[in-house]
Amino acid sequence: MMQTLYADVIIPLKFRDSVTYSVPKEMEGTIVPGSIVKVSVVGRTYSAIVIRILQAPPIDPARIKPILEAVGFPPVSRANMDFLRQVASYYMCSVGDAFRFAAPSTVKALRRKGRENGMRPGTSGQQSGMPRTLPVLSLEQETAAASIRGHFSAGHNVLLHGVTGSGKTEIYITLIAECLGRGLSVLYLVPEIALSRQIQTRLAAHFPASLLVYHSKQTGTHRREVYGQVAAASEPHVILGLRSALFLPYRDLGLIIVDEEHDTSYKQTDQAPRYHGRDTALMLGRIHGCQVLLGSATPSFESLYNVSTGKLCYVPLAHRYFEGCGSTVTIVDMPRERRKRAVKGPFSLTLLKAVASRLERHEQVLVFRSRRAYASALECSACGYIPKCPRCNIPLSYHKFSNSLSCHYCGYSASAPETCPECGKSGMTPLGDGTEKIEEELRTFFPEARIERFDADTTKDKKEESRILKQFSEGEIDILVGTQMISKGFDFSRLTLTAVIKAEAVTSLFDFRADERALQLLLQLMGRAGRRETPGEMIIQTNRADHPVFRMLGHPQEGDLLSLMDERREFGYPPFSRIIRLLLRSSDKERLDILAKEVSGILGESGFRDVCGPAAPPIERSAGEYQLQFLIKTDRLRNWTQAKERLYNRLRSFPASTLTIDVDPVF
Ligand SMILES: [Zn+2]
Ligand SMILES: [Zn+2]
Repeated sequence: MMQTLYADVIIPLKFRDSVTYSVPKEMEGTIVPGSIVKVSVVGRTYSAIVIRILQAPPIDPARIKPILEAVGFPPVSRANMDFLRQVASYYMCSVGDAFRFAAPSTVKALRRKGRENGMRPGTSGQQSGMPRTLPVLSLEQETAAASIRGHFSAGHNVLLHGVTGSGKTEIYITLIAECLGRGLSVLYLVPEIALSRQIQTRLAAHFPASLLVYHSKQTGTHRREVYGQVAAASEPHVILGLRSALFLPYRDLGLIIVDEEHDTSYKQTDQAPRYHGRDTALMLGRIHGCQVLLGSATPSFESLYNVSTGKLCYVPLAHRYFEGCGSTVTIVDMPRERRKRAVKGPFSLTLLKAVASRLERHEQVLVFRSRRAYASALECSACGYIPKCPRCNIPLSYHKFSNSLSCHYCGYSASAPETCPECGKSGMTPLGDGTEKIEEELRTFFPEARIERFDADTTKDKKEESRILKQFSEGEIDILVGTQMISKGFDFSRLTLTAVIKAEAVTSLFDFRADERALQLLLQLMGRAGRRETPGEMIIQTNRADHPVFRMLGHPQEGDLLSLMDERREFGYPPFSRIIRLLLRSSDKERLDILAKEVSGILGESGFRDVCGPAAPPIERSAGEYQLQFLIKTDRLRNWTQAKERLYNRLRSFPASTLTIDVDPVF
C-alpha cells in the first residue's frame, strides 16, 4: 500500500490548464481538491491550486515532479473554482490566467510561516462584530434602502442611481451593517485607489474591526494576510478593494457593492483575463448566491439596458439626473455667435463675461478641454460637421500624411474632403488643433488672473500635481485649464463656473461609446462646480449645438437617454450586442499580414458571422510595433459560450505578445 498519489494543479500561467505533480507521503491527507500548494516550473516556484487527486500517474512517473509544499490555507471551495472557470470561459483565457489574480502569491511572503495559523494582524485583540455607529438616513435614503431590501429579498440585483452627494454611501453603510449582522461578508468594489482611500476612512469609522482593504498596490505580505483572513471566514468582513479583490477565496459572501459602476477603470486591459469588474461581480454574485448592488450618478448604458430587460432593478435616489447640484447649463452655439460677431479668439463673449464676473467675485473657474492624445478627426470649421464611417457610425480618423480618412473598426477609407459634405463650405481642419493655445489666450484676456494648467504635461511630476490641486482648493489659482484628469473626485469650494471649449471634441472619440462617455464626463464636470449656497454654472461652447448630448444637457427631456441608446441599437453596438476584439501585433509588417490571414481563416471557420477587419486600430503603431484588429460582434439572443471556447482553443497557440483577445473591450 505504498502507492503514490498524484495531483492535477492549476498554475498561474497561460500555457496549460492543469499539470500533474506527485504528492509527497508526508502531505497525503492534507492535500485535497482546492488546496493551495507550491510547485516548481522550470526552476521557478509558483502557488498552485489542486483540482483533483489521482490514484495513478497519467504519464511516465519519472517525468512527474513532487509538490514542494502545502500552504497552510484552508482549501478553496468549489464555488471559487467555478468562478475561475467562468471567468476563463467568458473572457477567453486559460484558467491559469484567471488564477493568477486568485493566487496568494509572492514566494517571499510564503516563507513567513509563523503568521499563517496564529495571529491575525491588525484585528487581534479587538472585539469585532457590531458596528460602532450607524448613519441616520434621511427619508429619501430610507425609502431607497427599503426598496433595495425588497428587491434583494426577491433575489434581484439592483442599480442605485443617485447624483454625487445624494448620500449613496450612507445607504451602503446601512446595508453592510445588516449583512454583517447576519454573519455574512461584504465585498465593496471601487474603481481606483484614490477613491478607495476616501471610502476606507468612512468604512473604518463604522466597522473598525471588520474592515479589510485589498488591492494590487499593496505588499505581497499584506495581500497574503487578507487572503488568509478571507479564506478562514471565521467571522464576517467588509472587504474594500479594487477589481482584483473579486478573486479572493470567499466563503460567506452576503452582498457585493460596485460603486461608480460606470467607471471604465473597472476594465482590466493590460493582461489576461481582460475582465470588467462590474460584470465579473455579477458573475461572482450568481455563483455565491448573493445580491449585487451597482451604484452610480451616471449609470453605464450596459446597466440601463439591463434595467430595461429586467435583469437589474432600478432604484433612484434624489432623482435629479440633469440638475447636478442645481447648476445651470448654457450651450453656446459657436457658428451662430460667430455670425453675430460675438466671438473673440476661441471664446464667446458669453464665456468671457461669465469669467470676468467670477474673477470680480473672487470665485474660481475651470476651463476644460478634451485631451486628444492620438489620432484626430476632421472638423468643418464653419458648421462643426465631423465625418463618420457610413458603416460603423464612428468618427473617421484623419491621417495628415496621406490626407485621408479611415475607420479603425472596419478599415473603410476615403480621401479627405476639401469642402464640407454637409454645408459645402471649405475649411475642413483637424479637430483639436488650437486647443493647446487656450491657456495662452486666457492670459491675454485676463492678465491679472492667476492661471494654471492641469494636464498630462504639467502633472508628470506627482509633487507638481498635488501642488496645483492644493493651490486651486485653497483659492490661490483663479482659472485652472484642465483635461479629463480634473473631472473626477475633486471638490473645490470656490469653483462656480466650468467652461467646456470645443465640446464636440468630447463626443468624437473613436468609439461607439463616445456619446455615453461625453455625457458622463460633462455631468461629472458639472458636479465639480457649485456647492450648497452658491449654485454653479456650466458653459458649453460647441460647433455642434444640435448634438443630442449637448441638447439634452441644455434642455433635458424625458426619454433623452433612450434616444441616445437608440443609435447604438441601430448600428448593433453593445449593450445590444457583444464585441470580441482580437488585436495582432508585430514589429514586422509582412509577418503581421501573414498572421492576419491566418486569423481570418480561423474566424472564417468559427461560426461567427459578423466580423470586421483586419483594420488598423487608432494607435496604428505603438512601441515600434504594427497592429491590426478584428472585431467580432455577437447578438445577445444566442449563447456563444461554446463557439467562444472553440475559437479560443484555435487561437491559444498564438503567443500573448502577438495576439490579445479582449471580450467586451473598452477602447
Ligand atoms: Zn460644414
Ligand atoms: Zn467603419
